[in-house]
This record gives sequence, C-alpha cells and structure tokens, in this order.
Amino acid sequence: MTSSPVDLTRPLEEDDPELCDLIKKERARQFQGLEMIASENFTSRAVNDCLSSCLTNKYSEGMVGQRYYGGNEHIDEIEKLCQKRALATFHLDPEQWGVNVQPYSGSPANFAVYTALVEPHGRIMGLDLPDGGHLTHGFYTATKKVSATSIFFESMPYKIDPATELIDYNKLEETARLFKPRMIIAGVSCYPRHLDYKRFREICDQNGSLLLADMSHVSGLVAAGVTSDPFQYCDVVTTTTHKTLRGPRSGVIFYRRGQKGTDKAGNPIFYDYEDKINQAVFPGLQGGPHNHQIAAIAVAMRQAALPAFVDYQKQVILNAQALAAGLVAAGYKVVTGGTDNHLVWLDLRPSGLSGGKAEKVLEEVAISVNKNTVPGDKSALNPSGLRIGTPALTTRGMKEGDMKTIVAFMDQAFQIAKSVQAKSGPKLVDFKRVLATDEFQGQIMDLKGKIEAYAAQYPLPGRPDL
Ligand SMILES: *Cc1c(COP(=O)(O)O)cnc(C)c1O
Repeated sequence: MTSSPVDLTRPLEEDDPELCDLIKKERARQFQGLEMIASENFTSRAVNDCLSSCLTNKYSEGMVGQRYYGGNEHIDEIEKLCQKRALATFHLDPEQWGVNVQPYSGSPANFAVYTALVEPHGRIMGLDLPDGGHLTHGFYTATKKVSATSIFFESMPYKIDPATELIDYNKLEETARLFKPRMIIAGVSCYPRHLDYKRFREICDQNGSLLLADMSHVSGLVAAGVTSDPFQYCDVVTTTTHKTLRGPRSGVIFYRRGQKGTDKAGNPIFYDYEDKINQAVFPGLQGGPHNHQIAAIAVAMRQAALPAFVDYQKQVILNAQALAAGLVAAGYKVVTGGTDNHLVWLDLRPSGLSGGKAEKVLEEVAISVNKNTVPGDKSALNPSGLRIGTPALTTRGMKEGDMKTIVAFMDQAFQIAKSVQAKSGPKLVDFKRVLATDEFQGQIMDLKGKIEAYAAQYPLPGRPDL
C-alpha cells in the first residue's frame, strides 16, 4: 500500500480546517472586542507577511558574515538591514551603539544581558513585580524563587512609595549603597509615568553598577520621542518588539560600543559589552535565529521611523490621558492621578471591587484588560487594580471621544459587578457563579452586544483572513 502524498502547497484553510477555524475565531474575537491589554498591539499586514514567509526555513547560527551554515547570503542582508534600521529608528550612531536582533523575545533578551554582564549569583536590582516591575527583573517571594533571574542571580527589589505612588528613587539610592548591585534595571510593565534615567545613572555611578533599561513597554514612545530617552544614560537597553513598537513578538538588545573614556594615564578605555552580549545570545542561550521574526522587526523598525508613527504615539498618549480623566470624572481612582504614557493604572479599592472580579466582568463584555496589583496591596494573589492600555485601540483608529464612550461601557460593567457582588459575597468563585446566572447574563449580553457593535466600526490591520 502506498500513502497519498500530502499536498504541501495547500493553504491552511484546506490543509487543516480544524486549526484554521480556531485562528479565525481568535481573529473575530480581536475584531469584535476592545483590546486594552497594555502590552498588546495589532501588527501590520507587512509584519504578518514576514512572519509567514520562507525565512522560517533557514538555519543561520552565528553573526552576519560568520555563520555556521551555508546559504546565508540573503539572510545576512536581512539581519544587517534590521540592525541598521533598529539603530536609525532610535537615532543611534553605529560607532557608539551596536544591536543584537536575535533574541527570541523580551525575557530571553534580558537573560542574555545578565548572562553576559553579571557573573553567576551577581547582584541585580529591579522594580518589584507587585509595584509594576517585570518577572525577569529578579522576582521572588518569601517561599519561592519565581523567576530564573532570581535563581541564578541575587536580586533585591526597589519599590514604589505608597504615598506618592511614584518610584522611590531615594530608597533605591539608599538600598543600592548597601547592596552594591552589579546592575540596576530601569524598566516597567505597569507604571504610568516617565522614568528618570538620569537619576538611575547617578545611583549606578555611586556604586559602580551597570544601568540596563528594559524599555519593552515604552519602546514605541521612545522611538517617537514622546517619553524620556534611556539611550542618553544607559549602558544597555533591551526591548520587546511587539508592544508599543508594533512589530512581531521578539526581543532586541542595544549595547554601547567604542571608546568609553580614558584611564588615569590618558589611555583610551573601550566598552567590552559587544562580544559578551553576542556570545551570550548565541551560543550561550540560543540556537538558530528566527529569521522570519528578524525580517518582521526590520519592517516594524522602518514603520517606527516614519512621521506617522510619531502621530500614532502621540494619539496613544492622548487616548490614555482621556481614559484616565474619564475614569476619574466617573469617580474612579487612578494610580498617580493620571498618565504620561500608554497605560492607566486603576485602583479599585475605593470602588469595593477586586481586580479579578473587574477583569472577569470586562472579559464577559468583550473588553480585554488584566488585573494588577496596586501600590500598597497586601497580597499579589488578589490584586486590587487593573492595567488598561491604549496602543491596540489607537492602532485601530480610536481617538479621545472613543475613550469617553469606553469609560461609560466600563462603568456599566462595574455597576453590574457591584450588583453581582452584593448577592455573591466577596469570594471570586461565588462571584463567577452568580454572574453566570440568567439574572445577570441578560445585562451582560446586552452590554456585550453594544460593545461589539461599537468595536466593529473600526478595522483590524493585518491579514484580512487569518
Ligand atoms: C513584556 C516584558 C518583557 C518580556 O517580554 P516577553 O516577550 O513576554 O518575554 C520583559 N520586560 C518587560 C519590562 C516587559 O514589559
């Protein structure tokens, strides 16, 4: 018996209708709902085209011009173009900055930087996760070393001052003087204000520490020049490429190169990050680069250098500010009272709802956000806030007026949540059970219908089919 050959030219729709159907459902969900997760965005059709291209077939371990496999003449050109555009988009002089575009995503990029520049069990300091930092900045709890960055390195968090709700730079300065970290990480996943990189630099210089900026959330704003610029003060800068930057899921590392200064005898001293970082990425931690992602980063970097991208980022901020102002006007508490960037940090404690319940009820009406701790939260397991972002909806063309409408939708959802809670009591399981009853599902479906009709007025970029 011979088996019939699989037709390798069939589109997904014919080859695997089961899987194709699931993707189509996800696309419909993205189109019909309001995507307000601050770390998400909608990529362009051109970025999607790279991701589904033949570049996924190719092995190219090594650096441009020095590959372990043959046939890389075009891959070399693609990676070179990506590097050139990445530097240009952030206005960097190739004599002073280099870039590695091979990290598979943001977390591997950060781990590569630590591997390169911090010895095993060397000390790092990052913003605590419950205060708006990222897992990969050394997160651990009393009972568990949660992130591998706290297993292989010794981490000490710095925090937000609960009174001002801003990063406590004075306390960081005090702790850093005692802890003497090898590296301080200036980077946030949930923080609505500009970072003071100059202050971070001063604290690093007092202790001989390296300064890493992880600008993952705000790299689009940095490219557009609408938030503080980490490159002026930092030794190394990492970023994801899929958040405000609006590229594929991937990661990038920028590092200083060239002359650093002179020693006491007047001889030049040079930065030594380049080889260490490149070798940490490959062969240290990774194998073959994901060339389809690298091509897509190149496309996104070109787009991020266009004047229209500045307009986009300005609108992202205007929308976040309109959202914050609308929520405050409706009686809600916004952490720090407003925002300078792409996200709003909502503190639900005065409203009597938990982040988990608020997230759940918004999900049921097709608004995607995520629950988040707020400064002063007692438990990270039951956070009291929400993180709400505007990059994705701004990509779909929404403006300040839309944010007003969305505040009204959210307020209606929270009112439903309060009525549910009045019946269910405080526990999330009971809340979900009561929310699922007919009494409340009628109201939920009604509101969801309105929200979906509203969202559908705005086109979704990318492939029209998948
Ligand atoms: C999102 C994020 C990362 C991790 O990115 P992944 O691509 O999810 O691994 C790292 N640092 C910060 C600050 C982030 O916001």
